[in-house]
Amino acid sequence: MRLLMPYTGIVKGVLGMVARHELSARQRKPHIRQLVYVALPCALLLALANYLQSGYPLPGMIVAVTAVLLLGAAFFMSGHEKLLSMAESLLLLFALLASVALGLLGGIAGSGILWIYAFPFLALWLKGQRQGAQWSLIWLLAMAFSMLAGSSIFPFAYAYDEKFVLQASAALLFYSAIALAYNFSRSQLEEKLYVSEQGMQAKTRDYVSRLELAAYQDGVTGLPNRLRLLDILGREIANAQERGHTLLVAHIRLKKMFETANLIGPDASDKLIRNIAATMTATVGSRGIFARVRRDEFVCIYRKHTEDINASEIIRDVLAFRLEYKINDYAVHIDHTIGVASFPSHAGDAETLLRKAAQAMLQAQFANQGLAFYDERIELQFNRQQLLFVQLHETLHKGGLSLHYQGLIDLQTGAVIGAEALARWIDPVSGPVTPAEFIPIAEKSGLIKAFTLWTMREAFGQLARWRAEGLDLFVSINLSSRCILDHQLIDDVRGLLKEYNIPAEAIVLELSEASFADTPETALQNMLSLHKLGFRLSIDDFGTAHTSLSSLKDLKIDELKIDQSFMRSMASDVGSRAIVLSTIQLAHNLNLRVVAEGVESARAEQQLKDMGCDIAQGYHYCKPMPADVFSQWARSWQINRRAVLSA
Ligand code: C2E
Ligand code: CA
Ligand code: CA
Repeated sequence: MRLLMPYTGIVKGVLGMVARHELSARQRKPHIRQLVYVALPCALLLALANYLQSGYPLPGMIVAVTAVLLLGAAFFMSGHEKLLSMAESLLLLFALLASVALGLLGGIAGSGILWIYAFPFLALWLKGQRQGAQWSLIWLLAMAFSMLAGSSIFPFAYAYDEKFVLQASAALLFYSAIALAYNFSRSQLEEKLYVSEQGMQAKTRDYVSRLELAAYQDGVTGLPNRLRLLDILGREIANAQERGHTLLVAHIRLKKMFETANLIGPDASDKLIRNIAATMTATVGSRGIFARVRRDEFVCIYRKHTEDINASEIIRDVLAFRLEYKINDYAVHIDHTIGVASFPSHAGDAETLLRKAAQAMLQAQFANQGLAFYDERIELQFNRQQLLFVQLHETLHKGGLSLHYQGLIDLQTGAVIGAEALARWIDPVSGPVTPAEFIPIAEKSGLIKAFTLWTMREAFGQLARWRAEGLDLFVSINLSSRCILDHQLIDDVRGLLKEYNIPAEAIVLELSEASFADTPETALQNMLSLHKLGFRLSIDDFGTAHTSLSSLKDLKIDELKIDQSFMRSMASDVGSRAIVLSTIQLAHNLNLRVVAEGVESARAEQQLKDMGCDIAQGYHYCKPMPADVFSQWARSWQINRRAVLSA
């Protein structure tokens, strides 16, 4: 089987099955060797046949000698790349010489007739169309010469019969033409196959490179994407580490891109993003490398040569970003928020550094600033808020919250007339969480509506029970500013009033003064509806947001709660006392009841009494306490008060 191996290649080659346009040196060497394997035994057999045939011993000997010499040399030369062409020519030279020898010595009319006609095929196969045709032409001329003129020049030459010369010449021409035509069509086929293969390869290469681009590049701006950024940053960190440099990573978020894209359409928004990317890259120049990591987020890596994280350079760059862009004749204003983290101060690897820059961006966004540097404490706070959000969600549904009540004292009579409901949360994992911490979380996460409904249900229920027990009190409930914007609030509240069968007049709804800063229509409508239902409305923390009393005239307010900070400063500060006094007087002029909260001493109580304040609340009377403790306290307070009064 192994012996036959060289021959399979020959068969395929002759049949045109090996479609190769240009043979490489590596392919030509076995070609030559295969030919030697075929030609040498054939030539020796032919030589032997000639030798044994009476009258032809000389051609036999010549063929044998030239075969061994020339084919041997060709075999040897095929081992050297530079000599390949010469080796091929030697093969052809052997075939040419053997043909001429046979022609001159009459072999062509004998056994040589079988082999002579193979020459054009061999020449074309080895040398290709052009050189093969040239060799074939030489061969034709040589053969014609040896048959026609040989005998008149060389005395030993064979004299051919005219008829034979005619037939043999026709056969020589015929086989040459066949060989040329065959080789031509074969090379055409090879050419076609080669072209289509090349085309396919080019297409595949193009496709693969486009896939690679898509995997590593942002399609709109052509900037590296997040995946590629990780690579780049990894390399930059390694470089910085080696040279002792600092890296700053800025995470840039474009504000309101979604709304803008919605307004100007997807094509224009792509154009806008491209403009913004171009501005940013041009502003930063070679000092930074940009990537687009999300639809409206970019990252810039700045290299710095000193250890100190001097932000001034970045701030200068950032402030230099143009914010006004012209898209299809629209002037579009795009603001941005930037967070910065640095290597090595904040992180030692690309992934963490990017995360911290993004975190810093959130911190800036949260604080309503244009730029923030990463701060670990703030991240911890963020994480706690995240955790609390999840826990609050669970607690709210599992009933882990409770309401405490703090008494409201009528300053004229000294009687307990109401209670403020204050939410309490003791988390099994995080421990007690103050309302100051969890209410903003509820507000931001959308849990506030469910939370407020729970508070109302709880407080309405408690009020109904106290009333049934003969405890005549009103209950104050804190309403978040978000709730007053809720379209469904009125329906919900109306439903609860019916369910617990309590008069709305026994409920005070406290709204912090800050929520009046910018009162939208829904809030005004809701307040009006609440007032119509009979609820009393109170402004909590009054004095902290500097609202003028006269501007509150139309809001159907019943009560003002002076912020506890005034109680604290009143003891020492004459100015605070003056503010409290004028607030009380002004409120009374507007028919509003005044509550002072944070009353911690008898002295403060006396001062408030002197100023004509209506109601007081504070640690001086009681701390917020669970409902059952509160009702006991309220009863004993009333008994004690009566005892004091009657004494
Ligand atoms: P706020 O409405 O101004 O409630 C009064 C806060 O002052 C309460 O704090 C109360 O415990 C505290 N306080 C009362 N008397 C004194 C005193 O004499 N001295 C001092 N230093 N503090 C006193 P708390 O319970 O921690 O609530 C804080 C804030 O959280 C509340 O301020 C209110 O804005 C909000 N909040 C509490 N519960 C709820 C609720 O159920 N819903 C809503 N929306 N907010 C609530
Ligand atoms: Ca309150
Ligand atoms: Ca308050």
